[in-house]
Amino acid sequence: MEKPDTIAIIVAAGRGARAGAGGPKQYRTLGQRAVIAWTAEAFLNHRDIDAVRIIIHRDDHDVYEEAMAGLLAHPKLMPPVDGGAQRQDSVRIGIESLEANAPAHVLIHDAARPFIDAPTITRVIAALQTHDGAIAALPMHDTIKRASAGALIDATVPRDGLWRAQTPQGFGYDKILSAHRAAQGEVLTDDAAVAEAAQMRVALVAGSPDNMKITQAEDFGMAEILLRRKVDEMEYRTGHGFDVHAFEDGDAVILCGVEIPHDKKLKGHSDADAGMHALTDAILGAIGEGDIGDHFPPSDPQWKGVASNVFLAKARDLVAAHTGRISHCDVTLICEAPKIGPHREKMRAALGEILKIETARISVKATTTEQLGFTGRREGIAAMATATVALPQSEIKQ
Ligand code: MG
Repeated sequence: MEKPDTIAIIVAAGRGARAGAGGPKQYRTLGQRAVIAWTAEAFLNHRDIDAVRIIIHRDDHDVYEEAMAGLLAHPKLMPPVDGGAQRQDSVRIGIESLEANAPAHVLIHDAARPFIDAPTITRVIAALQTHDGAIAALPMHDTIKRASAGALIDATVPRDGLWRAQTPQGFGYDKILSAHRAAQGEVLTDDAAVAEAAQMRVALVAGSPDNMKITQAEDFGMAEILLRRKVDEMEYRTGHGFDVHAFEDGDAVILCGVEIPHDKKLKGHSDADAGMHALTDAILGAIGEGDIGDHFPPSDPQWKGVASNVFLAKARDLVAAHTGRISHCDVTLICEAPKIGPHREKMRAALGEILKIETARISVKATTTEQLGFTGRREGIAAMATATVALPQSEIKQ
């Protein structure tokens, strides 16, 4: 395996006692998903992040799997690692867990900051090219007071040069590993403080005002407002795909990744899965990335006989490269035979596994053409598909 450049470590081992009842806040629901799923997705979808390691509490494996359903099979998601007693221990354990295939850089991020955006991640990574470390932060605009017991003001603290630290905080891997090992036993409030203690040069880059940390129960109200705005800012695009394959002598057809016994097979230079080809084209259409033939030219012998899931996975990865999300897919298979109905659920599951989205976002339907036309004469199978992709407007490429 090639040495990864940047791995994101998401710290999710906290108990979140301040966020009130309902269990650790990173597993609570925000919109229709867990907080941690929003957070993880931001890093999984970022083109400069090679892998994501999540650090969880050893008691949280079940709740983690439930919260991350739909992302668990993501090719960039590494298995979770159990954290330690304090956040600082968890981060160190997370960094150490990457030692066998150490990346050049790590980004460390709190699971409870689900509104991290791609441009902030990009700024942190860019600053790592010239610094030992870089953290997202915002300059202080409020006047700062120091108070004693009884909330009486002791002093007004000059705010010049004061910044509020956020995450992600990024570092050169080897340096932050030694810094964390050296800081064991000391209590430091963030990873930049660990780096500072080791005399690393850490830069501040612009964070985002939306990159809030959900700490207390009342923070969920603000988080819901931010989520609604984020959804409003998404652009939804629909793509369409169509494909036909003729029958030839054989004993089974492959449709939407499922083999169905039949007295014929479908003719084609790959497995001739018309359903998956139509869906691949629909997804490519939604993101303006041409069609299946552009990415896998039939004239190129290396694609001869390749299973169609390779094509569909490519379309999925291109959506991720646009930091988009597949919202929904709908495939219609058009044939007199074989019967599709008994295989629909298996097809939805097969497509969902490749696309790494919930089955609920995938529809497979079938129809005949009343014995009219080439499908009616049982000369072949046609497939139509639509795909809806959500793209953050800030990420749409020109
Ligand atoms: Mg085809």
